[in-house]
Amino acid sequence: MDRLVRATLSGIRVYVAQTTALVDEARQRHACLPVAAAALGRALTGALLLAATMKEKERITIRIDGDGPLGLIVADASEGQARGYVLHPDVDLPLKNGKLAVGEAVGRGQLSVSRVLASAMPFTGSAELVSGEIAEDLTNYLYVSEQTPSSIALGVLVEPDGSVSAAGGYFIQAMPDSNPVLLEYLTQTVLALPPVTALLSGGKTLEEIVAAIAGDLPFTIHDEQPLFFRCLCSRARALELLGTVSEGDLEEMIAEGAAEIRCHFCNDVYLLTPEELEAEKKRRRSA
Ligand SMILES: [Zn+2]
Repeated sequence: MDRLVRATLSGIRVYVAQTTALVDEARQRHACLPVAAAALGRALTGALLLAATMKEKERITIRIDGDGPLGLIVADASEGQARGYVLHPDVDLPLKNGKLAVGEAVGRGQLSVSRVLASAMPFTGSAELVSGEIAEDLTNYLYVSEQTPSSIALGVLVEPDGSVSAAGGYFIQAMPDSNPVLLEYLTQTVLALPPVTALLSGGKTLEEIVAAIAGDLPFTIHDEQPLFFRCLCSRARALELLGTVSEGDLEEMIAEGAAEIRCHFCNDVYLLTPEELEAEKKRRRSA
């Protein structure tokens, strides 16, 4: 089961997530080829890790707008639930040094993060993409835009048949009063760790990964949270969306006798009936 654990070690917060099933669900929903599955999976995992620092009902959206062939990637998360899409899931690139060429597929451009907060105005910040590898881009964003020194690792292992066999990541977040010597120590322990997908596919639990990050430091695991791919769309929202189509498009849908509205985030399709289309026309007339 996918889950996330929250831990602290000497005042530094550590979040570790396994996202294998939800990333594989995203891959299947969007029919992603390997490099797209890896990029979207990293973005979804990153969104879940950042969302873990937020309160109930708060939401985070990461937009990765690079000039590479994948195009825009969006991942959105709240309270352990994430959804997302990549504009061109059918992009296929040759491996680079035996690894999926995520950086090349994403390219250079902007990364932006929007936070919908419970008790403050929504907030959006952005930073340049530094490598397109996503973990490095998010770390840079947090440092440049939110002045938070952190260390993020994200990984997705895609099998030859295209399925995702391991996905996850961790987020080490310094607090304003964190001891810089400890931070430096953690940076060194993390550098010596194998990739997160190797830890997960080698059977390490999230708790064991926290222990590996902590090295010789004592740590406390506070709680854990199940993680899911879950969208916010519904038939009611599809009908709301119908309210925004042009007069001409609505007439065309009525002439065809049906219409389908596809959710970008989860790729679910809502088939609208002739009655629903007529009702929308009537609503506009009386408006
Ligand atoms: Zn949806």
